[in-house]
Amino acid sequence: NVPIEKYEYQAEVSRLMDLIVNSLYSNKEVFLRELISNASDALDKLRFLSVMEPELIKDNVDLDIRIQADKDNGIITITDTGIGMTRQELIDCLGTIAQSGTAKFLKALKDSKDAGVDNNLIGQFGVGFYSAFLVADKVAVATKSPKSDKQYVWEGEANASTYTIKEETDPEKLLPRGTRITLYLKRDDKGFASPERVQNLVKNYSQFVSFPIYTWQEKGFTKEVEVDDDPTEAPKEAQERQTEKKKKTKKVVERYWDWELTNETQPIWLRNPKDVTTEEYNEFYKQTFNEYLDPLASSHFTTEGEVEFRSILYVPSIAPQGKDDVINFKTKNIRLYVKRVFISDDFDGELFPRYLSFIKGVVDSNDLPLNVSREILQESRIVRIMRKRLVKKAFDMILGISMSENRDDYERFWESFGKHLKLGCIEDRENHKRIAPLLRFFSSQSEDEMISLDEYVENMKPDQKDIYYIAADSITSAKNTPFLERLLEKDLEVLFLVDPIDEVAIQNLKSYKDKSFVDISKEDLDLGEKNEEKEKEMKQQFGQTCDWIKKRLGDKVASVQISNRLSSSPCVLVSGKFGWSANMERLMKAQHV
Ligand code: ADP
Ligand code: MG
Repeated sequence: NVPIEKYEYQAEVSRLMDLIVNSLYSNKEVFLRELISNASDALDKLRFLSVMEPELIKDNVDLDIRIQADKDNGIITITDTGIGMTRQELIDCLGTIAQSGTAKFLKALKDSKDAGVDNNLIGQFGVGFYSAFLVADKVAVATKSPKSDKQYVWEGEANASTYTIKEETDPEKLLPRGTRITLYLKRDDKGFASPERVQNLVKNYSQFVSFPIYTWQEKGFTKEVEVDDDPTEAPKEAQERQTEKKKKTKKVVERYWDWELTNETQPIWLRNPKDVTTEEYNEFYKQTFNEYLDPLASSHFTTEGEVEFRSILYVPSIAPQGKDDVINFKTKNIRLYVKRVFISDDFDGELFPRYLSFIKGVVDSNDLPLNVSREILQESRIVRIMRKRLVKKAFDMILGISMSENRDDYERFWESFGKHLKLGCIEDRENHKRIAPLLRFFSSQSEDEMISLDEYVENMKPDQKDIYYIAADSITSAKNTPFLERLLEKDLEVLFLVDPIDEVAIQNLKSYKDKSFVDISKEDLDLGEKNEEKEKEMKQQFGQTCDWIKKRLGDKVASVQISNRLSSSPCVLVSGKFGWSANMERLMKAQHV
């Protein structure tokens, strides 16, 4: 008689459960994908930990996932031999929301409510473990961690704010290790407990899980059995048979149940790229990163020789939802494997510069030690070489998108990740040559559609040496600045830098294809039109006026000069050659308040 302890869910979980239970959500079948993904994570964890602590798998139990559907009773069980959970972990993991997938869902839900849209978010994100309640009234989780010598059972019901935990005492029900989840399906959802349906769901949603998934299937084989007397046989045939001394036989189908391997367990990145379809790459991406949109580009490659690794990289089609303007660098976007063993998704910073942290993918190395740590990665020459390769491949992908016939693709990319590339101008001098052709800006001649620097250069006047730009807080204010007058008159194109980071990015680039970037608001702007005669004349005429203005303004300005850069405005305030531009001043000010 073991005590059953009752616990209350964290408030967010209750809210989420309410949502799930009351959703009229049609795509309920995602529950299986979510539970399989948890089983696979648990197996990954065990395999990883066992590298350092081999005693964790000393029991020699295979690493796999088994799913059994009991049609008659409307029950599905999903059993894995992974890391399991201790009693405390049960409370922490299944009673609170700590986890990425679910947290992401709640955030997206809030954002979409704010935006007044409702677009089947549960199906897009999956809500992790709690997806079980899409189809089940009651869920039992029996689990045995190798860290504990006891097995516990967690039980929750669809419309309750509490759950229970008790110790398992029935020896029949003890697991060697890992977790068994039992779903007692809702009346209307009992149809999911069909072996064929489960098999199809595994094939559709979990084909890239790298542990074997077995489903419990009814099988049959035909065999011939002898029959002694068959009253239906015609007398003539019976006589013939008897003269040939043959026994009468009949084919029967023998039925039995057995486990059937249902997924392909070779990791997709080990396959020959020639044999993998775009759909498979996209599907792998969606399953692995919990995404619902196809990526914009992917790249599958192997390097051999000095360092050996395989990788599949992706460019997502949208930036993760987050606060505007804030780039999130802790992304868990790169899954690092060493010789097929999943190591961590926390090392993206070691494998990519942070401005490329939006790239997603898997990297499987043959050269790193299994017990690799951040420190090892940071010191490793191998990782330095890997990093170079990965960065190059990432740029190849982005360049590919920019050259796509479909201009929308790159526009979408730029909208999501343009900021990252601009940050790259500041943080990665070595890759300026790769980043610069990917940048996009509005200009005095293209206010609606952004142009590339190549397009700018192509459009330069034959005698034009520099690339002109003006930084402002909007296209309207850029258009209206007096600095522009002379350039417009001469039909010179001027880039409009309207994103706060633009100006710093351009200043870091300094030049593109040997053409310097020139800020048209700076004092020494030279449009190559010196007319000494005229200048002399102007000096005579307005020299005193300038002196008088300077006297009146005193320290407020550095100097007052006659200029040839205006055509219709009488005067303009410019920044010194070495000072901050007006736009920078504005930005700096904004940061200090
Ligand atoms: P996520 O998978 O994003 O972490 P879930 O809601 O799917 O979120 O799962 C919550 C947590 O419960 C997991 O992080 C894990 O710690 C634990 N968990 C769920 N299923 C299992 C399992 N089969 N074996 C071990 N731990 C599990
Ligand atoms: Mg999960």
